[in-house]
Amino acid sequence: MNMQEVNLSEAVLATFQLVKQTADEKEMELNLLEEDTLFITVDNSRLKQILANLINNAVVYTQESGKVTVTIRKENDQAVILVSDNGIGIPEDEQDRIFERFYRVDKARSRNSGGTGLGLSIVKYLVENLNGSITIKSKLGLGTTFIVRLPIQPR
Ligand code: ATP
Ligand code: MG
Repeated sequence: MNMQEVNLSEAVLATFQLVKQTADEKEMELNLLEEDTLFITVDNSRLKQILANLINNAVVYTQESGKVTVTIRKENDQAVILVSDNGIGIPEDEQDRIFERFYRVDKARSRNSGGTGLGLSIVKYLVENLNGSITIKSKLGLGTTFIVRLPIQPR
């Protein structure tokens, strides 16, 4: 691992650039809510992979004119990153399965998004490998929030 001190807001804004074209085409809003300025010591390429998967999902699984908000805040010695959308949501009985490899909610609705179902399993692996955690809050038809907690300093 290549640990560096990373400004979390800058990492989020850099990731927004990756999805900007898709977001523009769908006339979606991408917002960063920086509640605390946070520098975390982390492998920047892993952090980027985590952010890119979650933010890309938020854009893909949200309808036109939707909104994606990333909130960052400090809680004790942890950085909390909330990736929130007002998209299609995930049924409650499937919420614990989406982190499994190749699992995709309702093949019919995800057919056109062309994914493999690996993104979240990789995210979970990377987050846990950094001694963090990931949880989900979602309501079908209303939206989804992924909550990532990462240590500010590695243990
Ligand atoms: P890829 O491997 O390209 O990321 P994927 O997006 O299908 O493919 P995951 O990122 O692992 O795979 O997500 C798994 C499934 O969880 C998705 O197919 C989708 O049904 C659901 N999902 C993930 N993120 C969201 C979200 N923000 N809103 C609604 N559903 C989501
Ligand atoms: Mg994905």
